[in-house]
Amino acid sequence: MTEALQAQNDQLRRRLESLLQQARSNEEKLRRFERLEHALIGAGSLPDLLRVILQDYRESFELDAVGLCLLDAGGDLQRCLDEAGTDLAASLPGLQLLGTASEQPLLLQLGQRPALGQFQSWRHAALFGPERVPGLASCAVLPLVRQGQLIGSLQFASRDVSRYEVDAGTEFLERLAAVVAICLDNVLNQERLRQAGITDALTGLHNRRYFEQRCPIEVGEAQRHGHGLACLFLDVDHFKRINDSYGHPVGDEVLRQVGQRIRQQLRAGDTIARYGGEEFVVLLPRCPDEHALETAERIRRALCETSVELPDGVRLPVTLSAGLSLLSLLLSSSQLPQLASGLVAAADAALYAAKAQGRNRIVMAGRGAFSPGG
Ligand code: GH3
Ligand code: MG
Ligand code: MG
Repeated sequence: MTEALQAQNDQLRRRLESLLQQARSNEEKLRRFERLEHALIGAGSLPDLLRVILQDYRESFELDAVGLCLLDAGGDLQRCLDEAGTDLAASLPGLQLLGTASEQPLLLQLGQRPALGQFQSWRHAALFGPERVPGLASCAVLPLVRQGQLIGSLQFASRDVSRYEVDAGTEFLERLAAVVAICLDNVLNQERLRQAGITDALTGLHNRRYFEQRCPIEVGEAQRHGHGLACLFLDVDHFKRINDSYGHPVGDEVLRQVGQRIRQQLRAGDTIARYGGEEFVVLLPRCPDEHALETAERIRRALCETSVELPDGVRLPVTLSAGLSLLSLLLSSSQLPQLASGLVAAADAALYAAKAQGRNRIVMAGRGAFSPGG
């Protein structure tokens, strides 16, 4: 074999070896990608899905930074994360919810395909949230599009300058962006449906179904941590007269406003639900017993001291009666489901007593009435 032939042979062998290596690496990448795709599709909730995107992807593809910007003009995403008790800044620092795309000007410049290239701090850093990772050299910004609409962007950055080169292929990333967009849409639709099932359509408050799920959870929490828990059952006084005198639409408006007034007197962790008709129920977790009565009185006064104003300017005086029960006054030996229903039953019985004693007052289960001003 001539020397030239030998050299050519070696060169070909090296080339073949490099192609094989490339093929193996692509295969491995595809396997990791498929695993991730399964995790994305299998995520059962929005927080789970966001963790797969922001944490699992970063780990399995050894990225130095991952950022996700999502448009949330209606506040659905925020509500959903609040509901799940997700502390965004702490657990998902790469996520940003935007009211409009103009909050991240780069989003407005995105085309249909991923944009790859050099990481430019002034341009890209803001897409990755408040955490600043030093030494980032290249990045990919993937537009997330659903039904022709931009819903956000997903971005990856690496310290390796050759990781995302301008002219690199983008099939993987395009497919990933499509899967992420579909999964986000699905999970959000599921959340909307779930939300609709636990929301009262008239007042926008939670409904009785939600309350019945929530109550045993709060009782369990209160027992575990030795905190107080109070339940307040509220009923609009002589509400039928409002319907009879002004009609049902006015009655509905009064119910909406009563719901808002009650809510305004509560803290962030409290639960309020429309139990049915003109009845509302409130849970006050981590509430010392003496504060529960103060809160109940504050709600009662918030209604009776300021009449409800109708859209045509007519003002209607509205009062509430309420029954208050305290977990601490129930037998602590009861099982959890009985404790939860016992707490509600005690508040309900106290409400009847408040009605019987003349209305516009609070009665505490096991104690006497707290009448207007008293
Ligand atoms: P009390 O002081 O004893 O509670 O008297 P009340 O008139 O408030 O109680 P009652 O149970 O006699 O009447 C409640 C009324 O609430 C009857 C029902 O038609 C009305 N109601 C229930 N749900 C709705 C609703 O969604 N909208 C309207 N407008 N009225 C409702
Ligand atoms: Mg009633
Ligand atoms: Mg009533």
